[in-house]
Amino acid sequence: MRDQITLECTECKERNYSSTKNKRLHPQRVEFKKYCPRCNAHRTHKETR
Ligand SMILES: [Zn+2]
Repeated sequence: MRDQITLECTECKERNYSSTKNKRLHPQRVEFKKYCPRCNAHRTHKETR
């Protein structure tokens, strides 16, 4: 029971990562610090659909 999510850079809105998460563990939108190639830096990436 995994849900497909996409991680979007909060700075440039580029969708850099896709992942899965367990909605029971994370019922709300999750955020990850990941490298954004467009910003050329680590940025907060937010879950989007
Ligand atoms: Zn970015």
